[in-house]
Amino acid sequence: MADCLFCQIVARRIPTEIVAEADGLLAFKDVNPQAPTHILIIPTEHIPTLVDATQAHTTLMGNALHLANRLARSYQLTSSGFRVVINCGPEAGQSVWHLHLHLLGGRPLRWPPG
Ligand code: 5GP
Ligand code: ZN
Repeated sequence: MADCLFCQIVARRIPTEIVAEADGLLAFKDVNPQAPTHILIIPTEHIPTLVDATQAHTTLMGNALHLANRLARSYQLTSSGFRVVINCGPEAGQSVWHLHLHLLGGRPLRWPPG
């Protein structure tokens, strides 16, 4: 999608610190990190929100969680803990309409979220 920010990142049209690419997924550092480690994991295919993911995307979504697991290990977050978040829709604060998982860690994270 020409007007989608994350599709532009997939196409390497926007400078981005990419940390992993595998299995139809791209992982890169968030430009405005909310924790010492803040990585976004996106499908390279344009899927606007979690609601738009179908049964056909179950392997992709499983791979996305597995990539979060691998990145949490490589950023040494597994003993301290970390969080994986998908904001879906306006009231959840979704601001980029291309499905993404946030991987957050490196500081205590409060619950419930704001
Ligand atoms: P959302 O609010 O949709 O759940 O998350 C969107 C995330 O994308 C935000 O954390 C925001 O900082 C990040 N973001 C927005 N624009 C860019 C960009 O151009 N590059 C990168 N790396 N992250 C971005
Ligand atoms: Zn997109």
